[in-house]
Amino acid sequence: MGDLLKDKRALITGGSRGIGKSIALAFAGEGAQVAIADYGDEAVAAETVEELKALGSYAAFALKGDVSDPEFAKVAAIHMKDIFGRCDVLVNNAGITDDGLLLRMTPESFERVLRINLTGAFLMTKEISALMMKQKRGGIVNMSSVAGVKGNAGQANYSSSKAGLIGLTLTTAKELGSRGITANAIAPGFIDTAMTQALNDRQREASIAAIPLGRPGTPEDIANLAVFLASDRASYITGQVICVDGGMII
Ligand code: NAD
Repeated sequence: MGDLLKDKRALITGGSRGIGKSIALAFAGEGAQVAIADYGDEAVAAETVEELKALGSYAAFALKGDVSDPEFAKVAAIHMKDIFGRCDVLVNNAGITDDGLLLRMTPESFERVLRINLTGAFLMTKEISALMMKQKRGGIVNMSSVAGVKGNAGQANYSSSKAGLIGLTLTTAKELGSRGITANAIAPGFIDTAMTQALNDRQREASIAAIPLGRPGTPEDIANLAVFLASDRASYITGQVICVDGGMII
């Protein structure tokens, strides 16, 4: 608990569980007022909101919706303005996988993963950065992946979306830097969440064998960097892609 994010207003997509929840709780623990946007189970989101309030984010709220819906992104920006008065930090964390070998992957699967993981981040960035531009400050953190940096067999859709997020991050940093807005990407490796728990034992073992530090990461490992990137201590860092992966990328 500290005050690195004291009085900041943050919106975290996919914030009701996993890495997004961990980021939301860490932000609240550092003094931020936090909103989460998620299309999952409302009861799970409500539980996260209660935990956020207990940490001092007394005005925490959850929005139910799909980040790949342009109307939802607009509604999210309106809620941030109406309830929090502004948005200082946007974390584009919502994401899905739908793995399969390239030759068997359907165009529908490819497009669905791109739509949620990449178009969703674009839509949220477009609407929320309009608020940030008026404030002349803001920080955007995009959740990419090591799979977006070096590819991954069985994840043509996912790794393409995560590589695309890096392009979005770099362009956002260039376009909005003059307005005092930073944009950075985190590229997690293999992190213990529901997403990776869906893998079979052989896939898990192969992933862990590729990690020099010899263990999966925790959602808190990712949240630690997200807190720093969202804080004023990182105000001169933009357009960076930082791997948090126990060395998996090397
Ligand atoms: P998770 O499945 O546990 O949580 C994802 C959350 O996003 C869920 O609450 C889900 O309801 C929400 N979500 C998904 N699609 C959405 C949509 N269209 N609109 C709104 N909410 C949506 O996954 P996680 O492991 O916590 O992953 C979080 C992010 O980190 C994802 O972008 C993922 O690709 C990325 N990532 C995860 C790992 C890992 O090893 N777990 C590694 C690299 C990157």
